[in-house]
Amino acid sequence: MTEPQQYRLRPFEVEAMRWQPDQSDAAAHLLGWLTSHDVAYDVNEKSGDLVLHSSARIAQPGWWVIRRADGWTFTLTPEDFDQAYAPIAPPAADPDKPCDHVAFAGQFDINRITATDGGPVTAYSADIRITCETCGEQFRWIGAPAGLSPARPTVSVDETVLHAPIRPASSDPDFGLGIPGFAIRFTEGDAR
Ligand SMILES: [Zn+2]
Repeated sequence: MTEPQQYRLRPFEVEAMRWQPDQSDAAAHLLGWLTSHDVAYDVNEKSGDLVLHSSARIAQPGWWVIRRADGWTFTLTPEDFDQAYAPIAPPAADPDKPCDHVAFAGQFDINRITATDGGPVTAYSADIRITCETCGEQFRWIGAPAGLSPARPTVSVDETVLHAPIRPASSDPDFGLGIPGFAIRFTEGDAR
């Protein structure tokens, strides 16, 4: 190698919790987390400071406690923590705050439709469900009629499943259209 090469620091993952002595639940979780990793500590009752014996680091209220994969546990101010670390997964849902729905899980089921048992596939249909990964809320599909159709996307009666007819890219445009479907019509005043 005669020329300098470019290198990037490898990313490494840590666990971190915020020290909030005024919130007894959060504080208990953090101390339990330290204990589970055999990290010895003291809490200064007067200042609220958390003192880690192994690294001789302190965490003032609001600071972060960070544990590396090799076990080294240290502390950072909120400013330094925000600059150095970004969450990998969205934070757990706070029951007091409506979910922002930022991460999603999709369930895809592809149905192979045959006219006779074991016969050739005459149509394909994709069933798609979307839920928020954080809070689990289901999402409803908008604008498609309820029912099943070989010709156009439809939804389940509760609108949470999209039934979308699909065909292999190389097939004829009328592939699958011989399959009968059904439509559900809602009249004014139906409860939904
Ligand atoms: Zn959500």
